[in-house]
Amino acid sequence: MTDNTPHSLTEDSAAAAPAAAGTNAALHARRQAALPRGAGIQCDFFAARAQNAELWDVEGRRFIDFAAGIAVLNTGHRHPRLVEAISRQLERFTHTAFQVVPYAPYVELAEKINALNPIQGASKTAFFSTGAEAVENAVKIARSATGRPGVIAFGGGFHGRTMLGLALTGKVAPYKLSFGPFVGEVYHAPFPSESSGVTTEQALNAVKQLFKTDIEATRVAAFIFEPVQGEGGFLPAPADFVRGLRKIADEHGILLIADEVQTGFARTGKLFAMEHYDVQPDLMTIAKSLAGGMPLSGVTGRAEVMDAPAPGGLGGTYAGNPLAVASALAVLEVIEEEKLVERANTLGKTLTDRLHAAKARHPQIAEVRGLGAMVAMELRDPATGAPDAALTTRIQKAAQARGLLLLTCGVNANVVRFLFPLTIQDAVLAEGLDILDASIADAVSA
Ligand code: PMP
Repeated sequence: MTDNTPHSLTEDSAAAAPAAAGTNAALHARRQAALPRGAGIQCDFFAARAQNAELWDVEGRRFIDFAAGIAVLNTGHRHPRLVEAISRQLERFTHTAFQVVPYAPYVELAEKINALNPIQGASKTAFFSTGAEAVENAVKIARSATGRPGVIAFGGGFHGRTMLGLALTGKVAPYKLSFGPFVGEVYHAPFPSESSGVTTEQALNAVKQLFKTDIEATRVAAFIFEPVQGEGGFLPAPADFVRGLRKIADEHGILLIADEVQTGFARTGKLFAMEHYDVQPDLMTIAKSLAGGMPLSGVTGRAEVMDAPAPGGLGGTYAGNPLAVASALAVLEVIEEEKLVERANTLGKTLTDRLHAAKARHPQIAEVRGLGAMVAMELRDPATGAPDAALTTRIQKAAQARGLLLLTCGVNANVVRFLFPLTIQDAVLAEGLDILDASIADAVSA
């Protein structure tokens, strides 16, 4: 992809962007007065305009966006195809509530997701608005299909900020602090990774141990796991672990829910991360890059499981909003036409090579890992091996000061994750990676 695609913003059009009211400092003062501190923010500037992998603040400063709205913008900010699709839908209608007056694009999108998901045999899909809502509904569907209450999730996992989402989430600060008690019948087992020192065997034994110490297998409706833990540190689930979970699930009539909210839509070098594994989930949650910046999520799964809840059991006023559905249909076209699955692998290789070169210079980079373009680097004290959250924050801040937006993650907050749009222009990527190198050098010597 070159810089002269329609999916890039020229300096002229950036300059012509309407200035939002006020300076960053003035807006921050208003934010502090008007918003609760719990609605925390990362950046000390306010967005005015964005295009593909670039963003301009209200004072005209440009940033390269490796955060992409937390994995939402695999197709970049304001892809022209999405803008066109949303605009066309805007001319027709913006809302009817699908459960009151249905519309064809929702059905068309469900058909497409059914054909594309990695589940063999008949599948069905229902749409919602947020990732947490998709997770909630996947659990509702699993409980309805099995007639069982229990759900087993994994340490370090993230499944959303609703009460059930938090119950499933395996990271306390900041998400769960002061919000309990949480929904019952949710249990956690450790997630296997080299970083945490938990082996597949230990993780699967811990699941079996739960059947002895916490809940009998016959009362467990589902396992829910992320094929690559996102907030937990970009930790790919080992293949033998996923296979082992499937086996335990089959032995006990438990359903397997793959939470693909962060991993979906080409990020990992496959359309869905579950395609990297030789087992199939019964249900999958999807959101984020599904609609390229419009709020849309879904649950897709085996037809007979999806059909368990009675009519009216699944829905929501905004579920499957028409503008978001129009955007999602365009996302699927863009992923195919621009070969974003292949591009994720190319970009992932470019990034991984650069990170390995940085690792050779800086022993603080303990590990570079990922799947496709879902790549991260973990920072540790080279002398003690202790997670280095302070260095991780310094890298993020140094990059931001130089005009590059980065996200961190990890149970120990010592991981920098990379989520740039898969449509990023080569020149913008190269510029971002140069800033990254300089920022790591700044941060380790600070
Ligand atoms: N599941 C996973 C795997 C996620 O990464 C997230 C969001 N980071 C969620 C669920 C929740 O999504 P949302 O914030 O849209 O509710």
